[in-house]
Amino acid sequence: MQNEKDLAARILVNARAGRGVRLTPDTAYFVGLKLMTASEKPTLADIVAVICDSKCERPCYPCTGKANVICRAYGHSVDAPLRPEPG
Ligand SMILES: [Zn+2]
Repeated sequence: MQNEKDLAARILVNARAGRGVRLTPDTAYFVGLKLMTASEKPTLADIVAVICDSKCERPCYPCTGKANVICRAYGHSVDAPLRPEPG
């Protein structure tokens, strides 16, 4: 199997182009395991709520920035299905 980032990039390119993806059973198993662990992670909003010492009513800029760094490093749960905008 190619590496994870190549696989993810290929899936995203196809999705953005409005095309589906066919996976081998081994790759589908791997993707399924990854999705199972992804759904166990907190969302960006969950992370903001935990790290904000001021308990801001709406996510404040510094806490959102820190949460974005954490999400980029460790991943996060996606709140809603990604619907890429065409173009
Ligand atoms: Zn805050």
